[in-house]
Order: sequence, then structure tokens, then C-alpha cells
Amino acid sequence: MAAFWAEPDFDAHECVQLVHDRVSGLTAIIAIHSTHLGPAAGGTRFWHYADPAGAMRDALRLSRGMSYKNAMAGLPMGGGKAVILADKAHTKTPEMLAAFGDAVDAFGGRYVTAEDVGITEADMVAVSQRTAHVSGLPAQGEGSAGGDPGPFTAIGIYHGIKAAVHYKLGKDSLAGVHVAVQGTGSVGGGVARLLAQDGAKLTFADIHAERAAGLASELGANVVASEAIMSVTCDVFSPNALGAILDEEGIARLDCAIVAGGANNQLARPEHGALLAGRGILYAPDYVINAGGIISVATEYLARRQGVAADINEVRKRLAQIPGRLEVIWQESDATGISSDVVADRMAQDLIGRG
Ligand code: NAD
Repeated sequence: MAAFWAEPDFDAHECVQLVHDRVSGLTAIIAIHSTHLGPAAGGTRFWHYADPAGAMRDALRLSRGMSYKNAMAGLPMGGGKAVILADKAHTKTPEMLAAFGDAVDAFGGRYVTAEDVGITEADMVAVSQRTAHVSGLPAQGEGSAGGDPGPFTAIGIYHGIKAAVHYKLGKDSLAGVHVAVQGTGSVGGGVARLLAQDGAKLTFADIHAERAAGLASELGANVVASEAIMSVTCDVFSPNALGAILDEEGIARLDCAIVAGGANNQLARPEHGALLAGRGILYAPDYVINAGGIISVATEYLARRQGVAADINEVRKRLAQIPGRLEVIWQESDATGISSDVVADRMAQDLIGRG
């Protein structure tokens, strides 16, 4: 096996730790990309990888993404990520979560964890029995931030879509603007509800067809098969399911003016940002538009460290800054001819001292 620092996804990460606990059977990777701006924050993914190298790639790539996301969200946090390697049956036990909590605690606050794919709020409550360096815990009453980051991610994306529609289409209202939403889960469903309130025309697809159909009947939207959503003629394509959907084939199918959604790592490879731009499609860099969840999680964590309840208004204030950041990126992209994803990467690299 080649050394992992020869991996294309290794980006001078500060620390990559393999954790194995023989008693509970926990195997995990905790990757800290950068602590330049503060403790490395990023969720824990619980996933079955056919090949452990895939887990390492995910940990390296996702932790770097968190450095960029946190920096561009204006948070005093660095970037990190944990990956727990699940077995095929996705067995998750209290003992594994306890061992994972101990592993996080051993970083002494250099890494702060929260929910990601496969990890619930209840799991984070279990982890919090072993370490204080955890967030995404249930909100402590009215007016305080906390809990599932999904709804906050959705609010940020909604703001971002409105900004994109204004920037690209010159419209101040979403009334009649057609948005095709790929994935109607926590984030996509939340985005769709907010768009519906503004009178947007909506088309949904989800591999769980009944999920898309249920939401469509609630909101008066259309449904298409999941293979068809990327070719729907629309104003905005909003990917809220999988990453790496924007490859040659996917981009060629798009019939929209804007791509703006919450899925992480939407571009299959870096060159696909330029391909999108070449087709005249405005792209909202994923880690800028989908920062709402980490904004909530980080605000909650920082408040708890100071012994106060996290103020929901602080979260709202930070969410409201997402459109402005996107506009700066798009203006710079238009002025220089450099695609928006590269503009965002360069801004993030400057912020984390790697410009
Ligand atoms: P989720 O599991 O609640 O929803 C994802 C939905 O996508 C599910 O309904 C699933 O059936 C559907 N789906 C999967 N593959 C599909 C396909 N090929 N076509 C159509 N639908 C498909 O997850 P979520 O929390 O809503 O996250 C969605 C995306 O947003 C993920 O990429 C996630 O990494 C990213 N994200 C989430 C958050 C958050 O706060 N939850 C924050 C940042 C980024």
C-alpha cells in the first residue's frame, strides 16, 4: 500500500489518527486538517466502506472541506472529521460510542465532533458522556441553538438560492422560479418547504420515491424519477442528496441557469467547476452555501464552552451572511474568469494561512 501522504487527498493534514478499540470493536479515523483558526470542527460519519482506503480518502477529503467551510463561514474553528468504519450490518453499540468519545477526548479539545451521515443526535448525547468536545446536542430550551443541524443547513441554502436567483436572473422574488430538488431528506425537504412558502415552482426526486411523493402532495409540487431530475428544464438545480454528481455526463444533462444545493463535494473533480462555468451555469460552491449546520453546531459549542446557552439569533445572524459571501465569490469569478469553486478555494486557503 502506498503511504497515505502520497494520496491525492492528503493536503498537509496536521494529524491523522487511526483509532482501534479491541474491546468494543471500534475502528475509526480522526483527521485534523487545520487548527489555524481554532479547534478542528467537523462531524462523525458512520459508514460501511468496502475498502478501508475509501474511509481514509473520506476522512482526508472531508476534514479539508471542513477547514474551508468553517473559514468561509467566518467561524473561529479549524477543520476536522471523524469516520467510524461500520461493518456490513452497520452495528453500532454503546460501547463503541463510548470508546469513540474517549478517542475524541484524548485530543483535549483540538478536535470537536458532531453528527454526520449515520450518526444521530442520540449518538452524540452518548458521546457527550465521555467528552465535552462534542456538539449537535439537543437545544436547551426556547431561543437557544442546538440539535439537528439539518434545518439550519436548509435555511442557509434557501438564502443562497435567493441570492443566486437575484444575481443570475435579476429577480427579487422566488415566485414562479422553478427549482428541481434532488433528494428530499432532512436538507432537501427543509429547502423545499422554505421555497414553497415563497411561491417557487418545485420538482422533486428521491430514490425513496414515497418520500418525494409525500412532500410533493404536501407542497403541491411535481415528482420525477431520480434518474430524470438532473435533466429537468428549470431555473435552479438543487442537489441535496449525493456528492460527485457534477461530472461530464451530469453537467451535460443539466438544463438550468443555477446549481445551488446542500450536498457535499458536488463536483466530481476540480475541473468540473470550469465545465459548469463554461456552460454559463452559476454555481454556488457547496461548502459555502451548506454551512448552516456547522454554523449552528459551532455556535452551540462555543457558547457551551463559555457556560452560556447558544443564542439562536447569533446563528441567524451568521446564516444571513451566506448570501453576501456567495455574491463576493460570483463577482470575483465574473471579474477574473476563474470559476466560482476555485475562487472560493483560494479565499478559504488564504483564510487558513495556506494561500
Ligand atoms: P438525508 O439522508 O436526510 O437525505 C438525503 C436524501 O437523498 C434521502 O431522502 C435519500 O433517499 C436521497 N437520495 C440519495 N441518493 C439519491 C439519488 N441518487 N437521487 C435522489 N435522491 C437520493 O441527508 P441530509 O442530511 O438531508 O443530507 C443531504 C446532503 O447534504 C448530503 O450530501 C450531506 O452530506 C449534505 N449536508 C448535510 C448537512 C446537514 O446538516 N444535514 C450539512 C451539510 C451538508
